[in-house]
Amino acid sequence: MAKSQFVDFKAVKAAITMEQVLDHYGILDKFKRGTDSLSGPCPIHGGSNPTQFRVSISKNIWNCFSECKHGGNVLDFIAKMEDVSIHAAALKAIEWFNLDPQAMSAEGDKDETDEPEAKAPAAVSPKLAAKKPAQPVETGAPNAPLKFRLDKLEREHPYLIQERGLTLETIIDFGLGFCSKGMMADRIAIPIHNVKGEVVAYAGRFPGEPAEDTPKYKLPQGFRKSQELFNIDRAIREPADKPWVIVEGFFDAIKLHQNSYRKVVALMGSTMSAAQEELIRQHSNSQSQVIVMLDENEAGQAGRDDIACRLSKHCFVRVHMFDKPDMEPEHLSAEDVQQLLGGVQ
Ligand SMILES: [Zn+2]
Repeated sequence: MAKSQFVDFKAVKAAITMEQVLDHYGILDKFKRGTDSLSGPCPIHGGSNPTQFRVSISKNIWNCFSECKHGGNVLDFIAKMEDVSIHAAALKAIEWFNLDPQAMSAEGDKDETDEPEAKAPAAVSPKLAAKKPAQPVETGAPNAPLKFRLDKLEREHPYLIQERGLTLETIIDFGLGFCSKGMMADRIAIPIHNVKGEVVAYAGRFPGEPAEDTPKYKLPQGFRKSQELFNIDRAIREPADKPWVIVEGFFDAIKLHQNSYRKVVALMGSTMSAAQEELIRQHSNSQSQVIVMLDENEAGQAGRDDIACRLSKHCFVRVHMFDKPDMEPEHLSAEDVQQLLGGVQ
């Protein structure tokens, strides 16, 4: 109990967006979307003017230009809506968005007071914006480790067990699970780790075939998947003389891992970014071997030659081609994996 009293406000603020909070209140559809803004009637004073309440998406702050005459961050908003303290607002956010309270607890020295915009009446004024610029967007910047973990994920979800054929052990090992609410609501959350093993994002997989307008995967805004190789934190712990296997998707990597081939990384697509190439280069040498095993479809066939060509500057590369169209590494049985890769282990 005592521990949950100390909430890391910064972590809670970083974990949720104004959009999610408006959605939580069921009023997101009343808001008009601009390039970096949402505008609508003010839910705090209950106004009807459709432009007086504005949200800056990149800064994750809001302002009411009418009666409230002020603004703030997500927690200020919840505090106003619920008429509670910032502390109570943070606890509500943890509850609503399934955040892990342990990961949200402050170590003692952190609180909201070092955040100038927390209480600023005019949070979007240029002066304050200049003081605390929005997150840099240059593509070379690494993804920052998350300060929170999704909590209460449903591990034994039929999509993971029946559709994807994963064992509970694999599901727990990879931290997968169905998320019932919050940023990845109604999706399977897949933690993505950087090379140090820190979680840098959750990908959200729709559990099944989504409708045409619904994306299969949802990634957090601002997250650059081109900077990461899924599963690299585990793959680098495998023996140096064992070949790398490069696949496209999360489930290709997870399934190969389950079938005992663990030096596998996923590109999260069918192309290799410069940053991903650099990651492989850093963790290999001229004696290393790489097997490029993309899906046997148009995208995979187009991607693999480019990848093989670029990696061959650093190590020995072999392209694996499946003899069946549309075959994917995920579909390989344990026996197939043993047959294909057993000799190289
Ligand atoms: Zn207002």
